[in-house]
Amino acid sequence: MRIFDTHAHYDDRAFDEDREELITSLKDKGVEAVTNIAVTLNSSKVAVEYTKKYDFFYGTVGVHPSDIEDMDQSDAMDILKKLAVENEKIVAIGEIGLDYHYDNIDKAKQQKHFAAQMELAKELSLPIVVHSRDAAKDTLDIMNATRAKDIGGVVHCYSYSKEQARDYLNMGFFFGIGGVLTFKNAKAIKEVVDYVPLSNIVIETDAPYLSPDPFRSKRNDSSRLPYVVQAIADIKKVSVKQVYEETWNNAHRLYRIKQ
Ligand SMILES: [Zn+2]
Repeated sequence: MRIFDTHAHYDDRAFDEDREELITSLKDKGVEAVTNIAVTLNSSKVAVEYTKKYDFFYGTVGVHPSDIEDMDQSDAMDILKKLAVENEKIVAIGEIGLDYHYDNIDKAKQQKHFAAQMELAKELSLPIVVHSRDAAKDTLDIMNATRAKDIGGVVHCYSYSKEQARDYLNMGFFFGIGGVLTFKNAKAIKEVVDYVPLSNIVIETDAPYLSPDPFRSKRNDSSRLPYVVQAIADIKKVSVKQVYEETWNNAHRLYRIKQ
């Protein structure tokens, strides 16, 4: 049962005490591939470092909508581009998108940097990792305007409705499904997983966040993905073996990694 964690943040402070030990223990727990997701210019550089240090790690470069002050640096796009071009284990631009949950970050500015980073992905022929929270309509509008259909990628920690899922499916996007699916009150995401074909689902932790039940609110890591796999299998009424196999293959398709 091979696990591909398509979205983790192992550079997070939460791993400072035991990062090395934890990461090197993952393979023994069936975790054979991880994509470490950047949120800032600095973590984009760290993602590159990790891909060199750990043979089963891939990485992304990009700036999260909550960290866009980084994009004020005049050479921000050049830095991202150079990191992506020079490192072939950088497999996507992300995580990028819109986050309207807190009011403190200018929406127009978020939109501008989302679109610009999508254009970079297009230029480099890389997929995108989309973060979208409380911004369903604007996210879709910008993605349509930027022809995200031609770029491809994943909507990470998908949190919108089944109806909106159809729009992302029509764009050929994958859905990043994680610990939230195991929460008792997570009705909407259960409907989405029931609706979306397994061929468009990838599994993710968002580690250190979003630990599945029964570890909710504890630090998350990739070895907890079997709980998510079980939840997907239960909803779709297929075997866990099938979920492991398909999500493993889907992750390679998403990030365009040869098997
Ligand atoms: Zn994330």
